Amino acid sequence: MRLYDTYTRGLVELPARPGPVRMYFCGPTVYRHIHVGNAVPEVLGRWLKRWLDLNGYETKLAINVTDINDKIYDAAPGDSVGLAAAATEWYLEDIGRLGLGMPDVQPTAAGTVPDQIRMIEELVVRGHAYEADGDVYYRVASFPEYGRLSRQRADEMLDQEPNPRKEDPRDFALWKASKPGEDSSWESPWGRGRPGWHIECSAMSKKHLGPEFEIHGGGLDLVFPHHENEIAQSRALGHPFARIWMHNGMLRFAGEEMHKSAGNDVSLARAFDRWGRETLLAFFLSGHWRKPLDYSDSTLTAAAARAARFREVFRNPSITAPDDAWDRFAAALDDDFNTPEALAVIHEWRDHELLYRALNVFGLGSLADRADAPAGVTQLAEARSAARAAKDFAEADRLRAEILAAGWEVRDVAAGYELVPRA
Ligand SMILES: [Zn+2]
Repeated sequence: MRLYDTYTRGLVELPARPGPVRMYFCGPTVYRHIHVGNAVPEVLGRWLKRWLDLNGYETKLAINVTDINDKIYDAAPGDSVGLAAAATEWYLEDIGRLGLGMPDVQPTAAGTVPDQIRMIEELVVRGHAYEADGDVYYRVASFPEYGRLSRQRADEMLDQEPNPRKEDPRDFALWKASKPGEDSSWESPWGRGRPGWHIECSAMSKKHLGPEFEIHGGGLDLVFPHHENEIAQSRALGHPFARIWMHNGMLRFAGEEMHKSAGNDVSLARAFDRWGRETLLAFFLSGHWRKPLDYSDSTLTAAAARAARFREVFRNPSITAPDDAWDRFAAALDDDFNTPEALAVIHEWRDHELLYRALNVFGLGSLADRADAPAGVTQLAEARSAARAAKDFAEADRLRAEILAAGWEVRDVAAGYELVPRA
């Protein structure tokens, strides 16, 4: 199997089975319900792990939780700790609804501070970092490879955090002295403070995967400065670090890249409530992980239709697929994990067993379920149909919510409605 690597700008082969394939994906900063765009690397990491596990690899997936960050301090002055704890719960609940399982490890920044301090101390001892008024900065000039991942020239790189205490505008903070109003801080050789953002991923990946691992994932927006800085921190200490850099394309809203600060903001929880688990997963499948993905009513409606089409296959007799069917599916995934290509392969399948196996890689085996709704739920759905026919949409919405609360989702189809178990 091969995957596109941002560092070399080419396809890189994974090691032979059984590997290991150790994977680290940068997770969210927890200060609010996570954005639907945050789900892209989460889904990709889980699908890749499921595919590799199925193919006899030994995998280990780590996705971190950033629970110390300026955004959290800003969002909850005086109670960043409380907000981060609550938002971590929301994150675990929202992401759990994907039904794709949890990573092998989910380390938190706050739970790894001693490891981060040790790493910073080592960087200082080796001349790659320096202390200034209780802050510690990485000395970018000490690492000649800096800029290789993002392919920027040293003199073109922006000042990441303007600050007169730095030797060089490119230097970035490893440790920040406590500021008034920050409600969490840790003791360190440089006084009380807290780690900068980038060092947590160098420390957590080393702790849970070792100094060298196979795949590092995250959104394309993390290439610079976050991943460039991770490389500088880890490789300066002699750790080979990640072999393959897997950067997913960003989710776009009506053609524009979505940012958390933008008004056109959709939480993952809201996306689940509106579209359901299977439609969302079918939507993520429709694009190549490296490309931007457009989130809109029309792309989600198309994904719902795709899921419905697969569900329909299981309601009709199974037709045995040709012998090479699975190999064609596997070839698409083994070549840079091309899910739209894999989707095109299985689109024609009528073989229940094979289709179930393929859909299950993506957590969509539930499309084969044919559970019948209990009579009470069917009555509610009938009442909703009547309300819709009478154009009483408020009543229809109320009934839809009641059906949802009973664990079922009502979907409007050409023949009327259908009831599917809520994911
Ligand atoms: Zn990271």
